[in-house]
Amino acid sequence: MGAPSTEDGGKNARLRALPSIEQLLRRPSLEARLAGVPRARAVAALRLAVASVRERLLQGEERTFEDADVDEALRALSTPNLRPVFNATGVVLHTNLGRAPLALEAVARVASVARGFCNLEYDLEEGERGSRYAPVVELLTQLTGAEDALVVNNCAGAALLMLAALASGREAIVSRGELVEIGGGFRVPDVMKQSGARLVEVGTTNRTRRSDYESALTPDTGVLMKVHRSNFALVGFTAEVEVKELAVLGRARGVPVLVDLGSGALVSPPGEDFVHEPTVPATVAAGADVVAFSGDKLLGGPQAGLLVGRAALLARLRQHPLTRALRVDKMTVAALEATLELYRDGCLEAIPTYRLLTTPAPVLEARARRLLSLLALKGIHARVAPVSGQVGGGAMPAARLPSFACVLNFNQPAAFLECLRKADVPVIGRISDGDVVLDVRCLAEEDLEPVAEAVAMASQGRQPC
Ligand SMILES: *Cc1c(COP(=O)(O)O)cnc(C)c1O
Repeated sequence: MGAPSTEDGGKNARLRALPSIEQLLRRPSLEARLAGVPRARAVAALRLAVASVRERLLQGEERTFEDADVDEALRALSTPNLRPVFNATGVVLHTNLGRAPLALEAVARVASVARGFCNLEYDLEEGERGSRYAPVVELLTQLTGAEDALVVNNCAGAALLMLAALASGREAIVSRGELVEIGGGFRVPDVMKQSGARLVEVGTTNRTRRSDYESALTPDTGVLMKVHRSNFALVGFTAEVEVKELAVLGRARGVPVLVDLGSGALVSPPGEDFVHEPTVPATVAAGADVVAFSGDKLLGGPQAGLLVGRAALLARLRQHPLTRALRVDKMTVAALEATLELYRDGCLEAIPTYRLLTTPAPVLEARARRLLSLLALKGIHARVAPVSGQVGGGAMPAARLPSFACVLNFNQPAAFLECLRKADVPVIGRISDGDVVLDVRCLAEEDLEPVAEAVAMASQGRQPC
């Protein structure tokens, strides 16, 4: 073959010299590393290691295959793709970071029903088939004041279901100011189309009056619908018809009023940020016939779409085929029941979302100072600064959520954040005005030390970035 190594710098020779998986499995020096590793995982790790070295050779690196290359592959295979992170973004309900963290009580309940059998659809008193929603219906009706309740996969599904069951083939009247896009492809006009309802827009972007709804009502009207604007605010020269007024109109004309409330707080946390956020019980009390809301936004439970309202309408929803298609599993029912019990028992502080949203500023400042001193001990210079967080999850866009952060000045903040994401438990921060900002609102006390350690590792380039 001549001497190709002189022409390609030895690249081909090095590629040919890569060991086979069989050879590696027999290599005595790898025995200790692979001891106790199931054979299939060992083979997968060796393949991964060889592939990664091949890739680096092709990119021009001059190296050989080392036993240590297997370590990285073994680590990669034993690290789950979905895993915990530290949320230093200051966004409480971060859709990218799993939205609401569950209460310990909810986690324990999930674990207790998930590992064995449970009475998900079994009535223990009668010894016959029961309803999977039964465990939460009473809690939901008690907590919201509604007659009946139903649970589906998420609020997008809940909105689709109520429209499909109550307005398919008929008209659904919605204000132009509420034809929102929630994110993740949820656009009210598109959901409407999917449901088979015909959208009738009334009013203008900024102002809709009762008379707009009134004159759009026809014998073909199926529902009047209100959509919580959720992720944007309408300010200035505006007018909208409150649920209460719409309910009066709906009742007079025999047309149900549906409300897609989205964020769905069961109680209003203290603080001026929350004053204007409608709660589910207030919406029910105002006369809404069906209210749809999320389980994992302000409620702070598992992902779910909750529907509460009049018994006769909920009965129609329950019979619709979409209810089966959107049904929740036992883990959701378990987590939801445990979360709703905390509301019933008045243990709001046990619900992480509530706790995170209501942490007083002095507590946050003290926490930021503790992180600052942990960083100082590791030789990292930072400063504590007041910052604004967000509720997130498409809820309460105008809320400022005053918080505190450790602010770090690095030459390449984006590269530094990338390093932080490679920590054993990734740390997710943000950049503001060219600085790295670590908001402490969503960090627990016990998170501060590992976060400080990750920052130290990243800043000393000890993290493989
Ligand atoms: C967030 C939101 C939804 C979607 O809720 P998911 O639980 O994410 O499916 C629907 N409608 C409104 C008004 C929302 O705010």
